[in-house]
Amino acid sequence: MKSLVFFISPLIVKCFPSSVPLMKSMDQTSKTAPECPFQKRYPSQLVKDDEFYMTLAYNEAINAWKANEVPIGAIVEYGGEIVGKGHNQVEISKDPTAHAEMLAITQASRSIGDWRLNEATLYVTKEPCPMCSGAAIMSRLKRVLYAVPDPKMGGLGGAFNVNEYPGINHTCIINSGVLQDECTELLQSFFRLKRESNNRSI
Ligand SMILES: [Zn+2]
Repeated sequence: MKSLVFFISPLIVKCFPSSVPLMKSMDQTSKTAPECPFQKRYPSQLVKDDEFYMTLAYNEAINAWKANEVPIGAIVEYGGEIVGKGHNQVEISKDPTAHAEMLAITQASRSIGDWRLNEATLYVTKEPCPMCSGAAIMSRLKRVLYAVPDPKMGGLGGAFNVNEYPGINHTCIINSGVLQDECTELLQSFFRLKRESNNRSI
C-alpha cells in the first residue's frame, strides 16, 4: 500500500500541476476575516425583552465574524440572566460540533448545574441545524427563538422539523423573526466579502 502511494503521488502532481499552488492560495485567503462593517449594539438593560437578548446573540455573531467564522451567535437566558453564550467556532477548534448553540447550551448547563434547561430560552441568530435542534430538545429548553429561517438546513421548520417528530418526549416553543433583517444582512455580507476577498487574491 505504501509503495502504491509513492508510485501514484508523482503522477498526481504531474497530471494536476496547478492544484498545489491553488490550494495554497485558497488556504492563505481563508485565514483572514474580511473587515466587519457592523458594530456591536448596546441595548438598554431596563427592557429585557426578546429583542434585548437577540441583540446580545447578534453581538456574539460579530465575535464569530472577527474570528473568521460564519457569523452566528447564541445566548441562553434563564430567569432574566445570561447563563450561556457562544459563537460559531468550527474553524478555529476544528470541531464540526462547535456551533454557537451547542457551546451556549453546554455553558448554560454548567452554569445552572443541571442538563435540564426547562425554564431557559435559546436565542440564536439563524435557525438551528438538525444537530443543534436535537440538542435544544435533548436539553429540554422551554423556548427557542431564532432570527433568520434556514430553508436549506433548518431543523425547526425551515427544511424539516425535529420538534414535531412523532413520539418525541419534549417539545420546545419555537418563535422566529426578531432582528431577522439585521442578522440576514450580517450573514449575507460575510459571505459576499469573503468571496470578493478570495477572488482578489487568486
Ligand atoms: Zn448547528
